[in-house]
Amino acid sequence: MDSKRYCNSLFQYQRFKTRQVMVGSVGFGGDNPIRLQSMTTTDTMDTQGTIDQSIRMIDAGCELVRITAPSKNEAENLANIKSGLREKGYDTPLVADIHFTPNAAEIAAKIVEKVRVNPGNYADKKKFEEIEYTDDTYQAELDRIRERFTPLVLLCKEHGTAMRIGTNHGSLSDRILSRYGDTPHGMVESAMEFLRICREHDFHDIVISMKASNTQVMVQAYRLLVNHMMQEGMNYPLHLGVTEAGDGEDGRIKSAVGIGTLLEDGLGDTIRVSLTEAPEEEIPVARMLAERYTHREGHDSIQEVPSSIDPFAYNRRHSKNVLNIGGKNVPRVVMDFSHRQEITAASLFAVGCNYSVPLDKWNLTDMACDYIYCGSNRVNFEIPGTLGPIFDLEMWRAHAGKDRCYPLVSIDALNALPQSEIVFVRASLNDLTLDRLNELKKHENLVLVLTTHHTHGMAEQRAAFFTLMNASCELPVMAWRSYEGLNEDQFMLYSATDLGALLIDGLGDGVVISAPEIPMQRVNNTAFGILQATRTRISKTEYISCPSCGRTLFDLQETTAKIRSRTSHLKGVKIGIMGCIVNGPGEMADADYGYVGTGPGKITLYKEKNVVKKNVAEEQAVEELIALIKEHGDWVEAV
Ligand code: SF4
Repeated sequence: MDSKRYCNSLFQYQRFKTRQVMVGSVGFGGDNPIRLQSMTTTDTMDTQGTIDQSIRMIDAGCELVRITAPSKNEAENLANIKSGLREKGYDTPLVADIHFTPNAAEIAAKIVEKVRVNPGNYADKKKFEEIEYTDDTYQAELDRIRERFTPLVLLCKEHGTAMRIGTNHGSLSDRILSRYGDTPHGMVESAMEFLRICREHDFHDIVISMKASNTQVMVQAYRLLVNHMMQEGMNYPLHLGVTEAGDGEDGRIKSAVGIGTLLEDGLGDTIRVSLTEAPEEEIPVARMLAERYTHREGHDSIQEVPSSIDPFAYNRRHSKNVLNIGGKNVPRVVMDFSHRQEITAASLFAVGCNYSVPLDKWNLTDMACDYIYCGSNRVNFEIPGTLGPIFDLEMWRAHAGKDRCYPLVSIDALNALPQSEIVFVRASLNDLTLDRLNELKKHENLVLVLTTHHTHGMAEQRAAFFTLMNASCELPVMAWRSYEGLNEDQFMLYSATDLGALLIDGLGDGVVISAPEIPMQRVNNTAFGILQATRTRISKTEYISCPSCGRTLFDLQETTAKIRSRTSHLKGVKIGIMGCIVNGPGEMADADYGYVGTGPGKITLYKEKNVVKKNVAEEQAVEELIALIKEHGDWVEAV
């Protein structure tokens, strides 16, 4: 088997077939549709509140409701919640979410249809210690886990209860961290240790997840998991999710980048989109992501090209520097104005360039685009010095003598221009024949604009990148996608999937997005959001906020909004906002600052993964967080 294989095909969409696991009466994996799920945010001891919220989720289309069970009391109360739902005619299966408490898991396994365990903390109280494990001491730890975990496996088997082995990047055990580090490999091994115990007991009603808030780590971990499963002859269903994705546009884009990238390759049997919003708001997002693949199979074939990337590690494709594109430059954003009737100074407001008439001055935001594609529109005003207009050939000629104007031509029209000219050349996979590639390689000042009209467009563009890499063609490449007939949410999710899936593998020196029906500002924000979510260009503050659940001891949505209102101008600063510490401080290591609930009305503040202020009163915690940011020199005043 190809040691880098992780899906059926990189070119022909095909869902990776997993074994069917029944959760109550709902089938996961196999030939079942991709299932949508979410998690309650109420206190599990609030029986009626949890029933009411579950009903809102189910009515929105949630096919599996997860409820936290932090201790025996909550686990026992799942019986009341379940019977309350059944009395109202709702037979949707329930999942108990377990961290740290095997006794709660063993109670829940007799009540609900599925139990989620976190292999990072099921049998371990994390001490965050670096312990040197010898083979013998490591094996002794595994024996201890087997002893602790086996009763749950046997109970699940006896009661027909399914299980999710839910690994989380932020809560790997000390044992795994010491041997494999904070890596996708460590995440996979963490699940495999538990999976092997299940298999020893011939228990197979298992779904697996590999979540992280870092989309690169998340995608690599799922791919590596499937690769390992293929090697060991396993095919357990996959639960996809990006943890602590945040809220609003950022949360949706980040989720689409992670989840969509995997769906594009046919991976995934169930989706949970974790947003810091009401759980029923997550379902339409999950549905939009999943429904795009209902009719994807059987598409026109794409020419197969040997892969030239490592799907388990991020490496940016090597490219030459032309203008400020390619090489070590951050990916660039080109906004498409070609469908506009005219372009004025005011039109550029939507793409981050604000012209002040009284000052006769341009003010650029952190999300000001780098180029505008004007098509056959004329530009009759002085544009910002950092912005480059790109024209169709005739209009470019009409702007002769003006600085920073570039033509966009088809690959066939390239010969009409001198080799020294800086040119943007439009091409798709089928244009990249050997002869043409040899021709293109002679040009020093050429930026390739890679287009696609294929139903499985990401795969076609990826194949084009492989073609360029195999031919050692290092021209910088902008990936261009066009969208029509979509609403704003679909546009955001699908463009994030298509372009995110390339960028996450280091493919692309920038993006061009055409969406004439979508407001330009939304298109521009989405482009920068995709770059931020793939961690290829940071232009704003990043919030790693959990969706909250019954463990949350403060209003996460309100607090996130409050923190955002004070810190949204801190470009590049990552702030973790967690209801509790189960997914940290691993996730805190990914954040610069952390705000974590530790008890009723009590917040603990982190600088990376180190606690710096314990049990701060909630009323003062946001101010203390800001003081901490100031103390570490990351604060700037908002303008
Ligand atoms: S991090 Fe948030 S969602 Fe996760 S268990 Fe804690 S409170 Fe719940």
